Amino acid sequence: MVKNVIIFTDLDGTLLNFKTFEYKIIMPFIENLNKKGVRIIPSSSKCFLEIEHIVKEIGLKTPFIVENGSAIYIPKETISQIPTNAIDENKYWVLELGTERETINKKIRQNDFKDYMRFILFLKNMTKLQQSYYTGLKSDALSRSLDRRYSEPFIWMGNNEHLSEFKKSLNEEGLSIFSGARLKHLTGLNSKGDAMRELLAQPSFLQTMSVDSSEDITTIACGDSENDLSMLEIADYAIVLRLPGRNPLKLKRKSNFFNSIKVAPDGWKETLLELDLIKKKLDR
Ligand SMILES: [Mg+2]
Repeated sequence: MVKNVIIFTDLDGTLLNFKTFEYKIIMPFIENLNKKGVRIIPSSSKCFLEIEHIVKEIGLKTPFIVENGSAIYIPKETISQIPTNAIDENKYWVLELGTERETINKKIRQNDFKDYMRFILFLKNMTKLQQSYYTGLKSDALSRSLDRRYSEPFIWMGNNEHLSEFKKSLNEEGLSIFSGARLKHLTGLNSKGDAMRELLAQPSFLQTMSVDSSEDITTIACGDSENDLSMLEIADYAIVLRLPGRNPLKLKRKSNFFNSIKVAPDGWKETLLELDLIKKKLDR
């Protein structure tokens, strides 16, 4: 019997084309997965407004993970029991795992990080034109991307040595840096992997898949960047998407991982179709 399958997927460069954010070409495949009960759970460094927009466009009725594991949004209509420790927010139950943006900025101001500030250009301080250049986004999409709650995006202008020093002192303050495909983000100690574990530990979520334990679920993680490693290493299967002009991400795991040949979105579809369990799900 083929078990329940969940695909935890990054968006930019993984499900969406890195440059154009295009995914429509693989919509029939996504719809087919939906129809066969394969859950697709987006997990991105994008913020709530951005992911909600995409999730609605794709027509997914599943939880999603925002700002690099900082929070999990579970649509109330998909769940009958209130998740443990959830916050009530309009149409969603929210599991907060990250550090609020205000706290991040306060810590940055309070502590002696001055030496590093000269290497940082925060996205929020850039002109619209620069913001558009660094995010690849325009107008409404750009505005949505700036509405963040748990992270502060920036460009690093220093060398790698300074960056590791900075990371070390941030860790001591309960903060960290994660690198997406385009920008770096100042954030709490959250990760996509921790958020994935948290969701799979929620009995109310497991109930929606008619299982008592996450052992009864096969997980697939898809990603293209360093901030995806935490979920790629712990999922049952890992799919690494190729980014144009970059070496594919290196994983520590030795089995059940696949590198895409094509880039997103085609690479997402084609690599998933290499997995027997996906083929079986779709054949039924
Ligand atoms: Mg990505």
